[in-house]
Amino acid sequence: MIRGRHLHTVTLIPGDGIGPEVIEAARRCVEATGVSIRWEIVEAGEKVFERVGDPLPEEVLNSIRRNRVALKGPITTPVGGGFRSVNVALRKSLDLYANVRPCKLYPGAKTRYSEVDLVVIRENTEDLYAGIEFRLGASDTQELIEILRKKGGNLRSDSGISLKLISRTASKRIVRFAFEYARKRGRKKVTAVHKANIMKFSDGVFLEAAKEVAREYPDIEFEDRIVDNMCMQLVQKPEVYDVLVCPNLYGDILSDLCAGLVGGLGITPSMNVGEGIAVFEPVHGSAPKYAGMNKANPTAAILCGALMLEHLGEEKAATKLENAVARVIAEGKDVTYDLKKDPNDPSAVGTSQMADAVIEAMQEF
Ligand code: NAD
Repeated sequence: MIRGRHLHTVTLIPGDGIGPEVIEAARRCVEATGVSIRWEIVEAGEKVFERVGDPLPEEVLNSIRRNRVALKGPITTPVGGGFRSVNVALRKSLDLYANVRPCKLYPGAKTRYSEVDLVVIRENTEDLYAGIEFRLGASDTQELIEILRKKGGNLRSDSGISLKLISRTASKRIVRFAFEYARKRGRKKVTAVHKANIMKFSDGVFLEAAKEVAREYPDIEFEDRIVDNMCMQLVQKPEVYDVLVCPNLYGDILSDLCAGLVGGLGITPSMNVGEGIAVFEPVHGSAPKYAGMNKANPTAAILCGALMLEHLGEEKAATKLENAVARVIAEGKDVTYDLKKDPNDPSAVGTSQMADAVIEAMQEF
């Protein structure tokens, strides 16, 4: 953490689709807190891919390595074919092993719940996202196929296979991160989410590691839940849960579920953390159908800005910005379509107008 009043340098990646609009809104709000930031703007995603044939040029990684902090817009990942996910590559290249996704209910947001304050902590480097995939029949997979056949199971010759890798090392690291996060923020409970009853090896390793690490933190309550039951419990009584720690895939799914509890994807920020390095990005994707329309909700990106300010040691500015966002959502006037009771409400404002409202509200804090 960097403390005190000085100039911070931050890598800024506008991203694809609605990314440039929401990130610009966040940049303006962060600057309006009065904290001095020099933005180093670099491009990743679709357009760079078309230009230079690489969606994640080395200069992007180098800029983040140098500055240790980045604010990033969502990046499109082609479905099925095309280039591999830039987001996954970024997390792997920089070993951003922890993805922290706070899901907090701000009064006024469109939700049927009254009390939700959850944090999903997702392992970012392993699981089915390790990218080890192939189709049966590829010549270099023959040996593996023989092993799989010996193991039995329902191996059809027209199968595609993705390997699920979960290590004890990465599991202990993410669970320890979750407990440290809970302790630092005065949170009371950590719940480990898994499917170890079925995937006894991969998820079994995760659960065992979680139980072992939990013993080092007697001051924080620990429990585990099977992922399907966890989904139902979160929908029925989210107020019972606090910090959830999950392997990569369950973390991905549960954080969208939790975003739904607090008013949708337009609201939830996240940070990807490695050793001394942090990349802040909205949980939502590039929503291409709204690109360039000044329609998307900038809240998730603006709250990323608040998390980033906190990380930079600018806690007062972070609180001021979060309070201003909360005020604008509570008033419900200058908000985007997704925060209105009726999404077709003609009084809904655009991305940049909502950012203006947040900047104005900041004068009061
Ligand atoms: P998405 O989050 O982009 O959009 C899903 C829906 O959620 C949208 O159609 C819209 O209705 C709503 N939504 C999302 N963000 C919103 C906002 N700020 N304001 C208002 N409504 C919002 O998810 P998707 O359609 O599954 O993915 C689109 C692309 O984004 C894909 O290429 C995907 O791979 C990529 N993606 C990137 C990231 C990332 O960069 N971290 C994360 C998720 C998805």
